[in-house]
Amino acid sequence: MTLVSMKEMLRRAKQEQYAVGQFNVNGLSWVHAILDAAQEEDSPVIVAASDRLIDYLGGYRFVATLVRTLVEEKGISVPVALHLDHGKTVNSCLQAVDAGFTSVMYDGSHDPIDRNIEDTRTVVDYAAVHGVSVEAEVGTVGGMEDGLIGGIRYADLGECVRMVEETGIDALAAALGSVHGKYLGEPKLGFTEMEAISQAVGVPLVLHGASGIPTNQLRRAIELGHAKININTECVTVWSEQLRLTLAEDLETTEPRKILTPSRDAIRESVIAKMREFGSSGRASGSVQGVGTIA
Ligand code: 13P
Repeated sequence: MTLVSMKEMLRRAKQEQYAVGQFNVNGLSWVHAILDAAQEEDSPVIVAASDRLIDYLGGYRFVATLVRTLVEEKGISVPVALHLDHGKTVNSCLQAVDAGFTSVMYDGSHDPIDRNIEDTRTVVDYAAVHGVSVEAEVGTVGGMEDGLIGGIRYADLGECVRMVEETGIDALAAALGSVHGKYLGEPKLGFTEMEAISQAVGVPLVLHGASGIPTNQLRRAIELGHAKININTECVTVWSEQLRLTLAEDLETTEPRKILTPSRDAIRESVIAKMREFGSSGRASGSVQGVGTIA
């Protein structure tokens, strides 16, 4: 299947009360593991490259070509969206669209709301022409974001409504207490604010920093309109833990495939577990009819 935008994927997920996982790519092993997991689980999936890592990964065009080619080579038949996570500038989002990404997040959350809205609208106008979906952020997700450690700033309801009405975005990341990276203590999401924002904006919500959030809170977030849940830390943790084990078990080996395959398998298992937790397993069949396909 060709890559698709996340518009129809998220519309259906919200309607049927499950969430599609966004899994961040940190190298080739992740692309294999995420695609294999999605196919095995018959689940729609969002493969994401963070703008912060785009140079390390090889650039927008390389990532788009890699993911699209691997989808074809593996005969992946479930819907796959290729998403730019935390696009740092308008220009980086436009470059990702031109390169073949089928979805972009413009993250203007560190700017004043008027500027954030104006820049997001520019991205939406460009993306719409290419059938590409757009996510925006209001408020600040805590922890490490774009290489900066920051505190949590709750999304303001009025600003969320303006963002959706004035830009036409497809999904909204409203920061409500989650953090990127590991939680110190029990995560506490702002469910009261979440319910109010979800009812007011209507569009699917996106939960950033979902690694380490307990299942009961994830389920509540889905009930309250979250149709996309982002995971990175859990996958990099299992990858690195397994890598340490593999190297310790055989101090002589220099064979990369032998060293890296168990870690790739660990990511795949972790992604499968998340898909089951989010309720997206078994939902791929018949879900998307080539929305936002790319050439
Ligand atoms: P975690 O690293 O906390 O899983 O968050 C991922 C994320 O939100 C990417 O945007």
